Amino acid sequence: MRAPRSKQQVGRQKNRPAIPRGTLRALRAEVGFVCPVGDCDSPYLSFHHFDPPWNKGGIHRAEGMVALCLEHHKQADHGAFSAEQLRDFKRRTISRPAPAGRFEFRTEQLVLVGGGNLAVRTPTFLSVGGRPLVWLSSDERGNQLLNLEVRARDGSVAFSMRDNDWVVARAPSDMECPPSATALVVRAPTDGIFVELAFDRVTWEDVTKLLATRGAQMLAPEIRRAWNESEFVVAEFRAELPYEGISISRTSLLGAGAHIAGCVSVGCGALITIA
Ligand SMILES: [Zn+2]
Repeated sequence: MRAPRSKQQVGRQKNRPAIPRGTLRALRAEVGFVCPVGDCDSPYLSFHHFDPPWNKGGIHRAEGMVALCLEHHKQADHGAFSAEQLRDFKRRTISRPAPAGRFEFRTEQLVLVGGGNLAVRTPTFLSVGGRPLVWLSSDERGNQLLNLEVRARDGSVAFSMRDNDWVVARAPSDMECPPSATALVVRAPTDGIFVELAFDRVTWEDVTKLLATRGAQMLAPEIRRAWNESEFVVAEFRAELPYEGISISRTSLLGAGAHIAGCVSVGCGALITIA
């Protein structure tokens, strides 16, 4: 999975030390994981230095920084907000909406990777006890969209994604959502919940490598026949599903009496079905 980084962030990081992870976590949490300006509530956050401004101080000081969406960050850079207003954003205590966003990726043939398993044109990636947990839907243009459901131990929905639109229904302890809107990480360790999702536009060569590492090169022509474009969209996920007792790591799916890795399906009904 590629590191979620926008070009702008990469450009900035060349000339400055990285912001410490603990500082980033604190800045995200104090605004409730959404942009604190008015009713913006965008979950795609960047980090603004105002006390001192970066060009005057060149230091990462949590008290003098605030998490903002890119649009409000740009306005802040041009002086739209006073230091006092920015400090108020950091203290905003009104109730926040549940963080929600959307992956804009649209493709007729999504390559879905999870727990080292890979599915193409397979409507259900994972279902447990007859209930789909990771599956695909289609829009009116025939594009495939991703759906995910993560439940807490008590069965309540903690994270859900429908047709690429996602919402974090249960307050997380941390959430990373870069301005590029290509990736998402949700952490709620006390609830046993973890979700990591990343979308990426890749070449046919990248897809053939994904197949080869799973010994499934022979399925390449079948994927190619249905798609003559040179670009593919890959969505990769990791997740802890405490309600079902399933752990999906980078390399395998473990739990509910199953240990599944390296499975590939092209044009099947379902990849992983656990009773
Ligand atoms: Zn904003």
